[in-house]
Amino acid sequence: MHVLVVEDDPAISGPLVTGLERNGIEATCVQFGSMVIDSLPGKDLVILDLGLPDEDGLDVLRAIRKISDVPVIVATARGDEMDRIIGLEIGADDYVVKPFSVRELSARVRAISRRRVVEAPISIGSIVFDRNRRSVEVSGKSIDLTAKEFDLLGVLLEEPGRVVPRQELYARVWDPVWVGTGKTLDVHVASVRKKLGDANLIETVRGVGYRIVQAT
Ligand code: CA
Repeated sequence: MHVLVVEDDPAISGPLVTGLERNGIEATCVQFGSMVIDSLPGKDLVILDLGLPDEDGLDVLRAIRKISDVPVIVATARGDEMDRIIGLEIGADDYVVKPFSVRELSARVRAISRRRVVEAPISIGSIVFDRNRRSVEVSGKSIDLTAKEFDLLGVLLEEPGRVVPRQELYARVWDPVWVGTGKTLDVHVASVRKKLGDANLIETVRGVGYRIVQAT
């Protein structure tokens, strides 16, 4: 997914963009409200600072809502409760109060994108992965994955072909501060492979991570 960060303070946008990217979220930053509409195409979510140098952030939000229902998280300074309320009223999906933690914001970005996406089951080869029903079928037969195994497979299936780094898998399936040095991940991947009855779907990229190989 690709997030548009609208923020004029590089001391905030810099770590934010880096932090999002570390969580596997692509991010582009613009500093002015006037640049937002032109930058919207291709973005899956907007993080919008309400205190911008050129335009009122709430006006920018109104302008976005005239043309798009892209999810928007507004960022407000502490104490700007009115801005927050108005922001939600005119169509923001969530808000964060500065100073916010990048980790928390990344989690909210993911939560919103999950809520928004109408998640059609993913079919790859003989496998059907249904996030809404939390079910996985192989050749029409339901298989039982543990919660972690299911989440792990779900992260990999988001973008077939992309090598998902080990650290990202640990961060998203286990804990954001996991120091991923153990074998937990590999044990879970091995178990998923076994249950799917297909050792080739999930490819090991040695020293980096794992990826889904799409059947040709
Ligand atoms: Ca600002």
